[in-house]
Amino acid sequence: MLKGVFIDLFPGIFDKHGIYALSGVLGAENVELDYVSTSSHARAVRRVVEMRPDFVMYSALSSQIGGYQAFDAQLKLAIPTFSIIGGAGPTFSPITDGSIDAYVIGEGESALRNYVRNGPENAGNMVLRGHARPLRLEPFIDLELTPPPDRSVVYKRDKVLRNAPSKQFMSGLGCPFSCTYCFNHAYNQMTKSCGPTIRKKSVDRLLDEVNSTKRLYPFNLAVFQDDVFTINKKWFAEFAQRFPREAKIPYTCNIRPDMVDRETVEMLASSGCIGVHWSIESGNDRIRNEVLRRKMSKEQIIEAGQLLSAAGIKQRVGHLIGIPGESRSEMLETLELSQKVAPDYSCAYIFIPFPGLDLTNAAIESGYLSSGDVGDLPVNSHKPSALKMDKKERVWIRKFSFLFPVFVEHPFLYKNVKLQKVAFSIPTSVLWAGFQVLDSLKMARLYKVKVPLNHTIKMAIRVIRQA
Ligand code: SF4
Repeated sequence: MLKGVFIDLFPGIFDKHGIYALSGVLGAENVELDYVSTSSHARAVRRVVEMRPDFVMYSALSSQIGGYQAFDAQLKLAIPTFSIIGGAGPTFSPITDGSIDAYVIGEGESALRNYVRNGPENAGNMVLRGHARPLRLEPFIDLELTPPPDRSVVYKRDKVLRNAPSKQFMSGLGCPFSCTYCFNHAYNQMTKSCGPTIRKKSVDRLLDEVNSTKRLYPFNLAVFQDDVFTINKKWFAEFAQRFPREAKIPYTCNIRPDMVDRETVEMLASSGCIGVHWSIESGNDRIRNEVLRRKMSKEQIIEAGQLLSAAGIKQRVGHLIGIPGESRSEMLETLELSQKVAPDYSCAYIFIPFPGLDLTNAAIESGYLSSGDVGDLPVNSHKPSALKMDKKERVWIRKFSFLFPVFVEHPFLYKNVKLQKVAFSIPTSVLWAGFQVLDSLKMARLYKVKVPLNHTIKMAIRVIRQA
């Protein structure tokens, strides 16, 4: 029996869908699986040495590849093992150096299954170190026929995730929109011969997954993390009818404001949706529609907010700042549009120029970035912008991202010039700490999920370590 270990050097507080999906597939191939989750390389090496796996698996964003490469070099000094890295990072950034033996482009399920059956040479989407990328990717997996995700490998090792009072799910994969700052347009282009862009699990299958998870690991809120949960209206109508009867649990999901109409809002409310996450991104029409390709009007945005509020559905709304060429006054337009919508919670994220994105390429073309910079990216969207700009501007954008939720919720602080000046004079580190506390409290209160104190403390420690 082969033994494989997932290694997670960036443990967070969100469910690990990629690992659950791969655990389901590899478990069905009789692979013995384990999971190591720690940000300490030395501790992770010790654990892996004890486990003596045949192969180890990493999943990385572009900004995390360097961390995994450094870890892999350390691991190989302690134990000979085959290492494979996948995720959005290697999909868009070929791994050309270091000790990692192979990387996966796109979906890992078929690549890992082929690897354990036939070895690394014939594993489809897997590229061995020093080899060329395949010209064509493997067809997408069929979500109905693939073994269901298996959470047990992660949950037996990670109590924070296992005991979380809300659990995250994916009802499907894919997004057909082409927002320039999001990986989907590049991914859709890369995988256009692999199958349909949007794949949904049948409602039967999704209900099985939610209910079996609930039996094994009780929780009181389901969080659907699909890019746009309501993308298939026929599917959503069946879900909305059956979910409250057959799962009997409230849920939250992601939506797009231009897909919010009265009928959809009624179905959301009647099916137990207590909160939605959606995005304004920019309050400036040119930036929103030409630079970010959002293709939606201010009126659609404001109306979506009104319909959702009227139905009593809580709203968490995202915004993007630090966009190449964006002026301060354009960022303030974003804030002002958010104040008009008045969501229950709003957040501003600083653009990260991940490789392969149209917005990253535009930033390189217009001199806001050199192509070498995309190898050294911020690890999250509250870190200083990676774009070339004046140091003062970089600090202002970061402070603005921390103050944004406060200014939306308390417009007088923003409108009063003196108070606004005082807010911006607070040191960045203090604003950062305040934002972490506010963000955790807001999120906990927003959906009224009861979280035991000891669990809150454990999650807070993890968030702060990560940040
Ligand atoms: S709608 Fe959301 S998930 Fe889809 S491409 Fe745009 S930003 Fe990405």
